[in-house]
Amino acid sequence: MNIKSLTEMMINAGIEENEAKYEIKLLFEHFCNYTENDYIRGVELKSKDIELVKEHIMPIWKLYIELVKEKILDRLKTKTPIQYIIGKSWFMGEWFKVNPNVLIPRDETELLVRECIRIIKENSFKSVLDIGTGSGCIACTIAKQTEATVLGVDISTDALGVALDNVTALNINNKAVFRKSDIFSKVRPEEKFDLIVSNPPYIPYGTKLSQEVMHEPKLALFANDNGIEFYKKIIAQAHNFLKPNGYLLFELGIDESCQVKKLLKEKFLQINILKDLAEIDRVIIAKLK
Ligand code: GLN
Repeated sequence: MNIKSLTEMMINAGIEENEAKYEIKLLFEHFCNYTENDYIRGVELKSKDIELVKEHIMPIWKLYIELVKEKILDRLKTKTPIQYIIGKSWFMGEWFKVNPNVLIPRDETELLVRECIRIIKENSFKSVLDIGTGSGCIACTIAKQTEATVLGVDISTDALGVALDNVTALNINNKAVFRKSDIFSKVRPEEKFDLIVSNPPYIPYGTKLSQEVMHEPKLALFANDNGIEFYKKIIAQAHNFLKPNGYLLFELGIDESCQVKKLLKEKFLQINILKDLAEIDRVIIAKLK
């Protein structure tokens, strides 16, 4: 058994080759403390390992391979996303703790966050509200990369626990805070924000998803009203919590941009839509009238 055969094992189970290689790399790094360079060279012994080998009958690299193989077998059997197995996910240059109480940050969400950061810097904004913060990946990244202070709210206490661990790990507790709130329910009307951002649940109930995605919290994935439930709820109140000239940004689900744009038109102007790499309308930006 070697890295090549581990990769083949995953490919034979239907995992795409690049994904298989990426997952194996993550497993080695996480469970065997191997760096990218070690991985590229193949599993070789490090000097610290040689010390360890003396204590083992089996060479340490064989133990590593066995350990990673075990994790792969578990991953293939249970269809658990790799990020839940290693307990973390890479997002915009940082590791974020994740567990099945929170959504795994997606590449598309980076588009949303980059746009928020651009607007915040351009307008010297100081206060941001992130609705449905989950792991806190949006709130923490904005807090880390701008001058703004971020309030992240979520209905899930378990998710907020993860967000709190992330803000602490990034050492920005003074820049991002979290609160349990069902959308605006615990946000006070006198708290006004320069920018409100949300990547809300947007998958219509009944949509068939892969077994991997079904490990993620239903609360974070699905929405009523053909997926637009939370856009409606947020748009109905957002103007009460925004400062004049404030911005509202959403990540969008597939084919939802027209409906969301229509909802925004009453109270917002300068509505812009950004497409993701798959040419899907993914981010909507609106400015308060
Ligand atoms: N805001 C969080 C994220 O983008 C959670 C999103 C969600 O749970 N729908 O990761």
